[in-house]
Amino acid sequence: MKYIHPEKFAAIVDHARKTNPFYARTIPENGPVPVLVREMLRKNNDEILNGHQFNSHSSGAQATTVKIFINAERKGFDAPFVQDMVRRMGGPLPRMDIIYPRDYYVPFFLSIFTPIPEQVDALLQNYSERQSVALITYPSNAVLLAKEIIDRQLDFGFMKRIGMISESINKQQTALIKRAFPNARLWSSYSSTETGMISFQCPYEPDYHHAITDKLGIEILDEQGNECEIGQVGSIVLTDYTNRQMPLIRYEIGDLAAFAVCPCGKIDYPALQSILGKVRGCFLHRDGQRVIFLSLSWALSNIPTVRQFQVIQHEIEHFTIKIVADRSVENLVVAAFTEDFGYTPLIDFEWMSVIPRDPNGKFYESICHV
Ligand SMILES: [Zn+2]
Repeated sequence: MKYIHPEKFAAIVDHARKTNPFYARTIPENGPVPVLVREMLRKNNDEILNGHQFNSHSSGAQATTVKIFINAERKGFDAPFVQDMVRRMGGPLPRMDIIYPRDYYVPFFLSIFTPIPEQVDALLQNYSERQSVALITYPSNAVLLAKEIIDRQLDFGFMKRIGMISESINKQQTALIKRAFPNARLWSSYSSTETGMISFQCPYEPDYHHAITDKLGIEILDEQGNECEIGQVGSIVLTDYTNRQMPLIRYEIGDLAAFAVCPCGKIDYPALQSILGKVRGCFLHRDGQRVIFLSLSWALSNIPTVRQFQVIQHEIEHFTIKIVADRSVENLVVAAFTEDFGYTPLIDFEWMSVIPRDPNGKFYESICHV
């Protein structure tokens, strides 16, 4: 099973073969077009960037860092798609976004690095001043907000809608968020730095997503590289028809999902189910604050030779890092922790050749036991 637009696919392949040295080398004339695994992108990153200065980077589902050139054309596909889904949920509401500052410009915005109590206060203030009743943030942050609201016994019954982006979300997280925001409709989208929006939760059937297949070719492959049947979970392989500067053709992004048939019958885009990506998580600092695993994650992913990692917090000042990297980076890793925490916790190193997914299929970038 796959959704590939034959002419759009042929056009980007032809363009890439003629303009990009990597694809000229790897795609023979008249095919076949090989799958580009993440590790291959990482190894040939500069050649695939083809002289374009990268303007973003992705740590992706398995925390393997790649440099990306985001093309301006993608907004022309993503924005109307998102607007259509929001319209189907009842139209836009006054809202606040609590996200990474660089993601995009929005008028009522708070940095994701704002301490959680201040985030909660800002949401209350925005409700009282401008009736803001919607929020967009990352699932890991929504969980921290929910805990704070429950601990402070605040009434957030006014919140009508919470959108969660950029990460996988599980049922326990959803349950906690619903306790704190009892009247909010929760929605999620699935996107990547590399390709932008991939799919949006169906506004009618929350177990399903609809994929933006006029921008992306989507294949789901099993471990042997064969196409999966409907309902069979496999590896997502994307072709971005729009990015002509840094083409991504048959790119295996590292997330898992299954094609599905959404019972809504109202949206023409094909459906995905069981999307299994990255879970970012958070850590407890010794001042009692829980901090989302974002700035430290990016600092770690920027250390040379670091290919994959997972950080586990056993006690407030005791961590294990599972890491795929040259052992010479140990001091740089310790320095990244010190910079992020403001003190140096005890860090045990486990040097790995590959870090597996959790048995449920998600990849946990961090695990917190405190
Ligand atoms: Zn649907």
